[in-house]
Amino acid sequence: MTRQLRGKRIADVRVTQPKCLNLPVKRFRRVIGKRVNETSARGKWLFTNLHPDTLLLNLGMGGDLIYHKNEASIPQKYQLRISFKDESALTASFFWFGYIHLVFEKELPKHKMTSNLGISALDKELTVERFTSLLSGRRGAIKSFLLDQRNLSGIGNVYVQDPLFKAKIHPLRLIQTLTPREIQALHQSIREVLNESLRLGGLRYERNLYGRNGSYGPENFLVAYKTGKPCPECRTRIAKVRTGSTASYICPNCQKL
Ligand SMILES: [Zn+2]
Repeated sequence: MTRQLRGKRIADVRVTQPKCLNLPVKRFRRVIGKRVNETSARGKWLFTNLHPDTLLLNLGMGGDLIYHKNEASIPQKYQLRISFKDESALTASFFWFGYIHLVFEKELPKHKMTSNLGISALDKELTVERFTSLLSGRRGAIKSFLLDQRNLSGIGNVYVQDPLFKAKIHPLRLIQTLTPREIQALHQSIREVLNESLRLGGLRYERNLYGRNGSYGPENFLVAYKTGKPCPECRTRIAKVRTGSTASYICPNCQKL
């Protein structure tokens, strides 16, 4: 988004589901005339800088955010459409419900839905030292820690499975029992799994800014959603176990509790 949109000037904006906004449509329209700066992400939230405002987008349970060169290729159904002065456009369409918030620079730290998000799991500043310090003094199971967006943002139930497997850690392992070596392995495997998915454009049912589907699919998963299949390390059958409110896929031999 930064590469494609930075420098464009907003010519018009249309919102078809005003419930998604944090402002009345009329006030939201102050984005018209603004120039787009960089976009960053934390978890499901995209932050697009429109100095001095920030446009916050969250596609909710999923959806598409697509860049179009001309009006003709814009989908009929959408919640948000931003047209740029150069006649290209960006449209957001949610499968269910999403958020389109416009927040003034000074209000951003107080924005309730994003201010408590933890560092992005892909942030370069999330070094092994930083990851270790996030874990230090924490109690409870490692999987719930990783899924809690206030600790780290960007890891959901799909992407938590394989990093735990690669690091040979059971999802219910208590944080305080993890050794430095295990923490290091987990940090590394989170990076590897997320970066591999990024490289492949995300999951197969997800689409990028240009509408192209990702290619990260079941053949890339190690244990995730592979109940009954052999573990890639030791051939033990992969088990699906209940861990709190979520399902986990583990090799009962490689990931002992
Ligand atoms: Zn195994």
